[in-house]
Amino acid sequence: MGIVVQKYGGSSVADATSIKRVAQRIVATKKAGHDVVVVVSAMGDTTDELIDLANQVSPLPPGRELDMLLTAGERISMAVLAMAIGNLGQEARSFTGSQAGVITDSEHGRAKIIDVTPSRIEAALAEGAIAIVAGFQGVSQTTKDITTLGRGGSDTTAVALAAALHAEVCEIYTDVDGIFTADPRIVPNARQIPRISYEEMLEMAANGAKILHLRCVEYARRNDMPIHVRSSFSDKVGTWVVKADDVVVHQAEENGVNTMEQAIISGVAHDRSEAKITVVGVPDKVGFAAAILQALADAQINIDMVVQNVSAAATALTDISFTLPRADGQTAMTALARLKDEVGYERLQYDDSVGKVSIVGAGMRSSPGITAKFFRSLADAGVNIEMISTSEIRISVIVMENQIDAAVNAAHTAFDLGTDEVEAVVYGGTGR
Ligand code: ASP
Ligand code: MG
Repeated sequence: MGIVVQKYGGSSVADATSIKRVAQRIVATKKAGHDVVVVVSAMGDTTDELIDLANQVSPLPPGRELDMLLTAGERISMAVLAMAIGNLGQEARSFTGSQAGVITDSEHGRAKIIDVTPSRIEAALAEGAIAIVAGFQGVSQTTKDITTLGRGGSDTTAVALAAALHAEVCEIYTDVDGIFTADPRIVPNARQIPRISYEEMLEMAANGAKILHLRCVEYARRNDMPIHVRSSFSDKVGTWVVKADDVVVHQAEENGVNTMEQAIISGVAHDRSEAKITVVGVPDKVGFAAAILQALADAQINIDMVVQNVSAAATALTDISFTLPRADGQTAMTALARLKDEVGYERLQYDDSVGKVSIVGAGMRSSPGITAKFFRSLADAGVNIEMISTSEIRISVIVMENQIDAAVNAAHTAFDLGTDEVEAVVYGGTGR
């Protein structure tokens, strides 16, 4: 049997009792004949607490030291978990990201993995031990300093290790049973998705579904590494994130039909982390939109949707609106304020009481009328659409923040995504 990589999130290892429970599961996998590599997150809310601690002593902690501090969280859980496994009579060895061969660039707080050289992990497996690896961290190839991959980065560690070790599967254990057609906290009859393609999962993750880190899905797609998202609190089969072809074959088998078509809509995602900025009264001339977007790019701000209105005939002035992470709102406003004289716009408007609702599904490529149906459902629910953007397999709208729940429910019902039995159980976590 091959190698299985299992990743346990913070809520699955929140305290000693949880760690002992997880240890049982790991030992059971090992006893079933697999070589097991485990990636762990920090216990519970440890990472947030360490950030709070850093902020108490410094308003702007240096990246190098912050990374050194935060990686301590995962060190605690890996060592304690290894002890718990040892207590069950199996040998387990813990490794920091650096020891596990996770080599990154030197961007503290958002380092990218550039190579994985897991020779020590392979040696541990060869000697019959279970390897426990600290998630979300690595070592810079150039500076040799300890780095972190960004919040939620343990998922990426797990997929990267699974790919480097040619594992059979990367199992991501969390506090829900899998990936749902919508957030079960908002839509009580949301259904668990049995299989979803990398492409759809990327759109879900990029548009607010927090269950998997975006980069981990990208990494899995590039390496064709199947991900199995499941609960560490139950034995149920979770959601498989796999190649699109595998989804289609599975759906055909399940429905006993031979149509090789994909579900039209797989899920509804929402995002409360965006803000909208409107630059009002921009002269409608060549190069002005470019100047505005360049200022944002120079400030390292990732923008999401952009809309430029047709200019009013009388004034030849137009408005440009765009959305961006709320966390970057202040930086963006400052960068744009500096452009006021150069561009000669009238004023800036900042609105952070907006949210994004997206429907995602590979089958929409070949089905007409999906946009109409989505917008009709929003209209019937009294939700006003402020901005629209689409990809081949996604339609997103910006709505007022206090209408997100209504919009998600409306779309979920319109596309008949729900189930009659309530199946979503949230087992743990503080949602912090
Ligand atoms: N402990 C880190 C965080 O909270 C990494 C992770 O959990 O994936 O962001
Ligand atoms: Mg996570």
